Amino acid sequence: MRLGVLLCSAVLWVAGGVALASETFEGITLEVELDPGTSRLEGRFEVDPGQLDPASLRRFRLDPGIAVDAVTLGGQAVEFYRSGDGWLELARDPAADAGPLAIRYGARLPLPAEARPGSGYLGPDGGYLPPGADWYPRRPDAEPHAVRIELKSLGGHLGVTSGSRVAEERRGDEYQATFEHPAGRALAVATGPWESAEQRVGEVEVRTLFPAGLEQRFGETYREQAAKYLQRFNDEIGPYPLATFTIAASPQPVGLAFSGFTLLGERVIPLPFIPYTSLGHEVLHAWWGTGVYVDYSGGNWSEGLTTYMADYQFKRERGEGREERGQWLRDYAALPAGEDRAHGSFRGGNSGAARIAGYHRGAMLWRMLEDRIGREVFLTGARALYDEWRFVEADWDAVIGAFDDVTDEDLRPFFAQWVERAGAPELELTELHRGARGDGWRVQGRLQQRDEQAPWELYVPLELETENGRETHWVELNEVEKGISLETSSRPLAIAIDPDWRMFRHLAADESPAILRQGALDPEARVVALDDAEASEVAPWLGRVPGSADDAEGTRIVLGSHSSVAVWLERRDLPNDPAVLANAGEMGPGARAWAVPDTRLIVVSGADADARREAAAALRHRSHYSYLLPGAKGAWQTGLWAQPGIWQELADDE
Ligand SMILES: [Zn+2]
Repeated sequence: MRLGVLLCSAVLWVAGGVALASETFEGITLEVELDPGTSRLEGRFEVDPGQLDPASLRRFRLDPGIAVDAVTLGGQAVEFYRSGDGWLELARDPAADAGPLAIRYGARLPLPAEARPGSGYLGPDGGYLPPGADWYPRRPDAEPHAVRIELKSLGGHLGVTSGSRVAEERRGDEYQATFEHPAGRALAVATGPWESAEQRVGEVEVRTLFPAGLEQRFGETYREQAAKYLQRFNDEIGPYPLATFTIAASPQPVGLAFSGFTLLGERVIPLPFIPYTSLGHEVLHAWWGTGVYVDYSGGNWSEGLTTYMADYQFKRERGEGREERGQWLRDYAALPAGEDRAHGSFRGGNSGAARIAGYHRGAMLWRMLEDRIGREVFLTGARALYDEWRFVEADWDAVIGAFDDVTDEDLRPFFAQWVERAGAPELELTELHRGARGDGWRVQGRLQQRDEQAPWELYVPLELETENGRETHWVELNEVEKGISLETSSRPLAIAIDPDWRMFRHLAADESPAILRQGALDPEARVVALDDAEASEVAPWLGRVPGSADDAEGTRIVLGSHSSVAVWLERRDLPNDPAVLANAGEMGPGARAWAVPDTRLIVVSGADADARREAAAALRHRSHYSYLLPGAKGAWQTGLWAQPGIWQELADDE
């Protein structure tokens, strides 16, 4: 620890120009001034110790890179200490009647280009003070708490911070705005060279803060879409918890949600699908994440529920729900066993194994719950969760309790299994018979699961194809195997276990084509580099350079020219022509990538390193396919290897 030197300097600024919304505000007041020209942050924290527990105002988190200019109590200097690991500690508890406690501090922030990913920055391109970072004197154990933020941004930049914007003023190049949050946590600020435009939805003001070029082209689309999402989730779950919602542009390639605003990368905003996918996801975080807060100690439940109620529902409404679920299960099938994690172990991260555990497993959990309790009861549970836990940190127990309370069923075993358990069930139907029964028909057989030691408790959809269409028969399976007997009035022709991928499960071999993602999900993947190929050529895909190998013993990415790769595969008796496998017709001469069926081999071949790099870059967003082939006219052709499927034809009893 070192003793802080108390300095006397001028008051930061007087908030005289801002019409304060509620003069009797009780809670923390933060004044934040950001100057993009000098990259300076100046801050002032103030609170009346009479309003809070004075003992909670003794120790604060504050980034060691931020200098404290003064700590005063009722205008009198207070002695304080800074520790090297980021604590600011006062010499004594502030007395409740001693007058306001004020902390003045400041720092020079890095420019956006110099900042580490996720850390704060400030410069002509914009400013960012991240949530959960110690850019203000923070009491992590006391959050959430009421806070008023008086934000001042210089150099013509506008700004946004956590909470509802209750007042603002622009004077020349200076922007001042006041934000209030009744229960703020992990506060964040963003500023930038933006234009602002607004639209109302009910009582809520929706604003875009985009650079002029982006505002002209995309501002209106983003405001209108955000307004639709706010209305939708308002109707589904309960009232949006703040008075304003802002969509701001970021020089970094992000999509982040904060209390009252979302940050989207300047290069993300022009992508045509974002207003119809990611934007809705970020808006829904106003309910799950920054509405009901996440108590991370037991895992992060918010991404799965948000993915389910936003991204997935949008797909479902476009008739693409089944395809999305199939993609999640194929990704899971491509995951090496060592990377398989329980949903409850997810804290954060949105790629690779973390994405599967947090987003896909989570969304499938809610999908399965809805199959069990129905859409209306599911939404009743969601409303109860929001109503009871808004602006409070909820752990898994709280989430489960909200849904459990709205049903007569005991949902706890269901949640316990799907939250706490890694792995997935693997199912099989054997000894199938079809027989006439009275006016109708009966199908009998045995339903089995692989996990003999600890069988899953399952609610399994068995799908019958009959002369008059498809029928779903739900069967409970809580043991390793059981006999099934399905009655139907129409002559049944074939049967399959969950052909529409409504359960989180291991796909059967006949419904699970090899996909390119295998190469990305296995941290042990190695490159087999033929000719003059180099492992670094796959960095545009994987974001790293894997080690090398010359065998085919594990997950391997085989790199080289078309001809040398073909020879390598032929020597191992493996198929070597992806156009034949894909039934793809004419192929251009360019680079190609494909997953060799029934192996853990990925091929990336091309005339030279540049061509292979280009294919690797294209894989970043196309790894969920089996192949990426150059079309005759230059555009990529993608697809999955055809699979026999899992329908079993039914024969009459002898
Ligand atoms: Zn999210």
